[in-house]
Amino acid sequence: MEWKNWAGNIRFTPGRIAQPGSTDEVVRLLRNAAAEGRKVRCIGTGHSWSALAETRDILVNTDRLNRIISADANTGQVVVEAGAKLKDLNVQLWERGLAFANLGSIAEQSLAGAVSTATHGSGTDHRILASQIQRFTLVRPDGEVQLIDAEQDSELFNTAIISLGALGIITEMTLKAVPRYQLHEQSGLMEFEDVCSNVLDWVKEHDHLKLWWFPHTDRMMVYRYDRTQQPVNDSRLRQKLMDEWLSVSGYRLMLWWADRKPGRRKWVNRQIVRHMLPDVDRIERSYKVFNVPEPPIHRETEWAFDIGLTPRLLREYRDMVNANGHLINFIQEIRFVKGDDYALSPCHGRDSVYVGAYNADDRGWNELLSDFGKLAMDHRGRPHWGKEFNVGIDYLRSVYPQWERFVALRNAYDPERRLSNAMMERLFGR
Ligand SMILES: Cc1cc2nc3c(=O)[nH]c(=O)nc-3n(C[C@H](O)[C@H](O)[C@H](O)COP(=O)(O)OP(=O)(O)OC[C@H]3O[C@@H](n4cnc5c(N)ncnc54)[C@H](O)[C@@H]3O)c2cc1C
Repeated sequence: MEWKNWAGNIRFTPGRIAQPGSTDEVVRLLRNAAAEGRKVRCIGTGHSWSALAETRDILVNTDRLNRIISADANTGQVVVEAGAKLKDLNVQLWERGLAFANLGSIAEQSLAGAVSTATHGSGTDHRILASQIQRFTLVRPDGEVQLIDAEQDSELFNTAIISLGALGIITEMTLKAVPRYQLHEQSGLMEFEDVCSNVLDWVKEHDHLKLWWFPHTDRMMVYRYDRTQQPVNDSRLRQKLMDEWLSVSGYRLMLWWADRKPGRRKWVNRQIVRHMLPDVDRIERSYKVFNVPEPPIHRETEWAFDIGLTPRLLREYRDMVNANGHLINFIQEIRFVKGDDYALSPCHGRDSVYVGAYNADDRGWNELLSDFGKLAMDHRGRPHWGKEFNVGIDYLRSVYPQWERFVALRNAYDPERRLSNAMMERLFGR
């Protein structure tokens, strides 16, 4: 049966789909695969745009690894099976008085899938989601079970936590949750140039700040979220009308109309900015503010850069879109993340700005992907592993100081390349 990812841009037919429900079943599965000389790839929910999951052999689906094993509301330590979905964890943590310290824009992903690709949210005091993990259980390709702990062996943890499924199958993770909190959202449109001039101050003033730019317009939506224990004041009616009806149904309708003729995209973006992005001032549960309603199917590339480059990158990206005649029908997203020490983190060693080029239509996508990639490489950008990018191993090696450390660990854990596929070979070698 054909498998496809969320966006439908990656499709393949695995030889078999396995669904283990415990660490022991994963051990047996990997031992049998080794004995039979078969290859294995693991997936979460297939929300990556890149060809990480592709295999003609055994595809391991982690949907049955979805339980909370223990949760201590006092310490915030939560042991959870690695296939659990962020959206389920959001609710289950909240019921226990806990929450994720930070989140990305959606919560459909599995915990291990999100962590393994360095998924991130926004906020200069917050690192990527992997920083919320204290330890994890990895079943290596030979079936050996290893507990990797951030405090007990920080070098191994930092090398292995972002692994793209190349080191083994993660079955459990221990999360460091925080006491649950609300977010005060104050969002509104600003002039593109004002944003460029002020954004590096604003990111210091707010707990979480992100930007949405609609190309072909000179305005940006600035989202500011600050932590609070004040009670929720957002109304269900506003959420229904604005977040569900206008943002989801109205937006999809406009995309459908613009899709029929790409020349309409500029006009549509201007209408969206004029009529569909009202100012917002509300207090709501943290996860409900971080997560947006599931967007329409679209394509994404997103790269992390030194945060100091933000104004220059924004202007250069706008100028490149205009000069090269791209017609873009989706938001472009700009987020900010604290630097870290993880070997394969795009934020390794530097506080970062992520700039995402997105488009809701395949027409013109390859050209945008290629032009954005050139701009990104000119500024020593590092691509998001779960999104699309076309770069070679030499470039990646040059922008990741600990690249060889990860490659050496892969050589040690998977010498027979049981967990390899075309993308792993392209990135880390045969
Ligand atoms: C609509 C949408 C919005 C998104 N928003 C954001 C965002 O706000 N921020 C952001 O940074 N990213 C975002 N992403 C990207 C997404 O978070 C990542 O691609 C993430 O990896 C997807 O999680 P998944 O569970 O679907 O993993 P998959 O795509 O299924 O797998 C990703 C990788 O993880 C590995 N893996 C999965 N489970 C395991 C396991 N148990 N053990 C070992 N390896 C494993 C796989 O082998 C694969 O290499 C978004 C994606 C979509 C489609």
